[in-house]
Amino acid sequence: MNAFTPSLATSAVFNHIEYDDHEDVVFVRDKKHGLFAIIAVHDTTLGPALGGCRIWPYATPEEALTDALRLSRGMTYKNAVADLPLGGGKAVIIADPKKDKTPELMQAFGRHVERLSGTYITAEDVGVSPDDMEQVAKETGHVRGTQATGLGDPSPYTALGVFCGIQAAAEHVFGSADLTGKSVSVQGLGHVGYDLAAQLHRAGAKLVVSDINEAAVARAVTELGATAIETANAHAADVDIFAPCALGAGLNAQTVPGIRARIIAGAANNQLKTPDDGVALRKRGVLYAPDYVINAGGVISIALAKPGGNDTEVRAKTEAIRATLGNIFRRSEQENSTPEAIADRLAHERLQAHK
Ligand code: NAD
Repeated sequence: MNAFTPSLATSAVFNHIEYDDHEDVVFVRDKKHGLFAIIAVHDTTLGPALGGCRIWPYATPEEALTDALRLSRGMTYKNAVADLPLGGGKAVIIADPKKDKTPELMQAFGRHVERLSGTYITAEDVGVSPDDMEQVAKETGHVRGTQATGLGDPSPYTALGVFCGIQAAAEHVFGSADLTGKSVSVQGLGHVGYDLAAQLHRAGAKLVVSDINEAAVARAVTELGATAIETANAHAADVDIFAPCALGAGLNAQTVPGIRARIIAGAANNQLKTPDDGVALRKRGVLYAPDYVINAGGVISIALAKPGGNDTEVRAKTEAIRATLGNIFRRSEQENSTPEAIADRLAHERLQAHK
């Protein structure tokens, strides 16, 4: 063990609360094109670090560093549990995507990704569009989700994975993966939520839907025979399954006591506001499908897409989320732990097996 003590200059990273033995943290500056970015490579044990590039008007560089460290670590866990031959990384560009984004900015970012020689592979995230990634791809091949490498929008694969995860949860709780007659509250009818709702409808589930976008709700009522409810009541609906597909932190001290569903399984990122909320759910007998496991279909499609659009491997790996979650739910009971703690354990085990 190195007895190295961080100096003041390095302590910002090495003593950072989110620092978790990250392999590389690269601070990027391209004055000519106005680029300020941080690229964090958390762990490459399983392969090159894949993780999206986020553009956000962070108030301070410290906030950007916090996001880069936290999100890159999350990608290591997500890619490991999805059984992808990839590590975890993330890039954040400190800029306002509405005002500051130019093709030149994205190309400059691409040049810096190229400098890392494939240790980090970038993709879309918040604030970045498919067109932006095409600009990045002009400067580096270490990019996924572009027209040349991708299957396009990852949302249908995310929705497929969530549907498979709901089946795994139903099997665990009700003894059957058959969703006929099961009631599901789908909160958020965007790219993933609407697709998921349509799959649930085809599987014979009864839908209760909510979204701040009234047109999306009206469409689900007409096309899928759904019942509309107020967005504020989505979590408390009297249903078998609650599928959060809108924003994060929806499961918190205010909402958990009101949950009536036996299962929570949806696409939204960071659904639990704190780890204590997961413990509270377990105490109430609510089965929670860890978000980063159930919503991995998108990253699977980005990681494994082949030029030409053949998605056989992507679909098979996405459908494997059903078995992975079934295993997590069983272990959660055997080891008397929350499913999210078991998911983290599974990621550690996969990493350790390769070290
Ligand atoms: P989206 O922006 O297409 O859809 C989100 C929907 O939620 C919109 O229809 C919006 O109107 C609605 N919404 C916003 N606030 C709401 C509220 N308070 N109550 C109810 N509805 C509300 O996003 P998406 O791509 O469908 O992603 C949904 C969630 O899944 C996000 O948390 C995202 O991070 C996560 N996710 C998405 C993918 C993907 O492949 N798209 C992959 C992994 C995780």
